[in-house]
Amino acid sequence: MAKAWPRRPRLVAGNWKMNKLPAEGAALVRELAALRAADPAAAKACEVAICPPFTALPAVAEALRGSGLHLGAQNMHAETSGAFTGEIAGPMLTALGCRFVVLGHSERRHGMGESDEQVAQKLRAALRDGLTPIVCVGELLDEREAGHTTEVIVRQVTTAYAGLEPEAAKTTVIAYEPVWAIGTGKVATPEQARDAHRVIRATLDRVVGAGTGSAVAILYGGSVNAKNAASLFAEEDLDGALVGGASLEAAGFSAVIGAATARA
Ligand code: PEP
Repeated sequence: MAKAWPRRPRLVAGNWKMNKLPAEGAALVRELAALRAADPAAAKACEVAICPPFTALPAVAEALRGSGLHLGAQNMHAETSGAFTGEIAGPMLTALGCRFVVLGHSERRHGMGESDEQVAQKLRAALRDGLTPIVCVGELLDEREAGHTTEVIVRQVTTAYAGLEPEAAKTTVIAYEPVWAIGTGKVATPEQARDAHRVIRATLDRVVGAGTGSAVAILYGGSVNAKNAASLFAEEDLDGALVGGASLEAAGFSAVIGAATARA
């Protein structure tokens, strides 16, 4: 199991998806590290994780060494080794220096048929392998329009977290990512994000144990960028962001980190 946070962290994580060759990723991280080094006080206020594709992990790990930036992966298999062609196991990620792993991203749930049960298995595997899971949950547009947002979030969180020990659950991170907001430029309002975060915290309290919800860091994800980050982070319930498109370029991603830091 990864170390518990001393208190709920502020965290901005960049999900590069299937973008950046190793040399391009290393160059971007060197730019981010230089911007971070220029403002050490701000750097202390916000944790930052970079989640490149598997192929860029070694180059990015090398480039971020000593910078205080964390390395993360975008997925993992629940088994530690075996006949799983094309898959990557948790110990392979920790061996490359990963601290985080994104689990149950909507592009995997809805694009590749990953089930709630598989996400639950991966969550346990990540904890076993010493990684901090960033568990993604969120509703489709038609689910929101049909009034099923709460039901979907409760189902995803309950399946993932039921049976986890509170101390283990408290080390995890959840990203609320409404699917209709991912990569679309349509950002959730701060109120929509806040309401979903409250549902997640209440569900954790009910499913894992009282006090869990307030201990777990919950990020918002979905078209976060330099322009909208400050208004989102004005909501107390948002502990940071999972950022896709805007994490592919240093100035924009640094501005999102800056907005998270200003709230801290
Ligand atoms: C994501 O990939 O998790 C994401 C939120 O993407 P974007 O910021 O591009 O919407």
